[in-house]
Amino acid sequence: MPRKVRIVERKLKRQRAVGRVFLDEGIIEIEQRQKPREWLSTLVHEALHVAFPGMEEKSIAAAERKIADILWRASVRRIHQ
Ligand SMILES: [Zn+2]
Repeated sequence: MPRKVRIVERKLKRQRAVGRVFLDEGIIEIEQRQKPREWLSTLVHEALHVAFPGMEEKSIAAAERKIADILWRASVRRIHQ
């Protein structure tokens, strides 16, 4: 996997996913039309897949909920530049 992960915002609805990760290519694709809270949660989810490849989905989902909640309550938000 490349050292730097590229984050690509896309419309993914047709794939029935809000986020996807390609570990070999180092790419996170994220559905761009999510609400801010969901967008943050999805990004955390995919980042966890990058950080812990092979971790089971159940553990990823549990960590996603906790981390996204903490970040959200700390007012972490996406800004468009
Ligand atoms: Zn997942």
